[in-house]
Amino acid sequence: MSARVAFLGLGHMGLPMAKNLAAAGYDVVGFDVFPAANDAARDAGLAVAESAVAAVTGAAVVISMFQSGAQVIGAYTGELLDAAAADTLFIDCSTIAVDEAREAHRAAEGAGHRSLDAPVSGGVVGAEAGTLAFMVGGSEADFAAGAPLFEAMGRRVVHCGGAGLGQAAKVCNNMILAVSQIAVAEAFVLGERLGLSHDALFDVASNASGQCWALTTNCPVPGPVPTSPANRDYQPGFAGALMDKDLGLAEQAIDLTGVDARMGLLAREIYHRFAQGDGARQDFSGIITEIRASER
Ligand code: NAD
Repeated sequence: MSARVAFLGLGHMGLPMAKNLAAAGYDVVGFDVFPAANDAARDAGLAVAESAVAAVTGAAVVISMFQSGAQVIGAYTGELLDAAAADTLFIDCSTIAVDEAREAHRAAEGAGHRSLDAPVSGGVVGAEAGTLAFMVGGSEADFAAGAPLFEAMGRRVVHCGGAGLGQAAKVCNNMILAVSQIAVAEAFVLGERLGLSHDALFDVASNASGQCWALTTNCPVPGPVPTSPANRDYQPGFAGALMDKDLGLAEQAIDLTGVDARMGLLAREIYHRFAQGDGARQDFSGIITEIRASER
């Protein structure tokens, strides 16, 4: 029989991930502090415990999928680490700051447990389809223990190095994404003002050195890539609020290291402003409408 897995945090991402683990044969017991999330999980056929401690008791693996690092550290040090049997594997899949992830590792290991940070990309669609990408930080042995679970919930799994380096990979990737999405949007608006059609710019750039995911998959204008959010009024996709959150974590990492990441910090400023309004709920490629509306 497969190991018992406590899955904590049954929100947009956590519930479908927990369901995929259960479908793969794991003995999954879920719990969320938000009662409606527990009800939705029960309705979806998942076993749900009465409390976090009850979920963790008897589990060999504890997975968390929370909103913030404060929630992860609060839950770990509040009761989870004490409630778990010695040598439990703690896997945090939330997107949190690198230094918070390292603090969670230290707390888990200090309490006699094993620990991985394993943030994901792929969104709710990837969580439901079991096609998430996992970026994992922690020891080789802990990674080997967690790998079969990641494979049940995702398609691509990369061991990025020691504690916190899964979060580091996520933050660096999303900083590239933010900067390139803004650059692609600026180029389309500049092309519009110069009389260049969207199709012509797409045909040139997608086959030239401007080629990137923000252009060829998430094209910010409707037409050239029929599946991009621009064709459905910028419904996400990857919401502006989540990009703003991730760039906030990038900014923390930039501050921590002192790197001269001016493009990353500017992208943070631009997306922070975008996420104050309707952009919070739009796909982040909707930044093009702000660029189009502003004048230098
Ligand atoms: P969500 O708000 O839908 O779910 C988080 C859940 O965690 C909530 O239901 C909350 O009640 C629960 N929770 C918080 N503290 C808890 C605790 N101590 N015990 C049990 N449950 C607790 O958020 P989400 O969209 O599922 O995102 C989860 C994480 O995944 C975030 O860190 C987010 O940045 C990251 N992420 C999200 C997406 C996405 O598209 N939604 C994509 C990639 C990564």
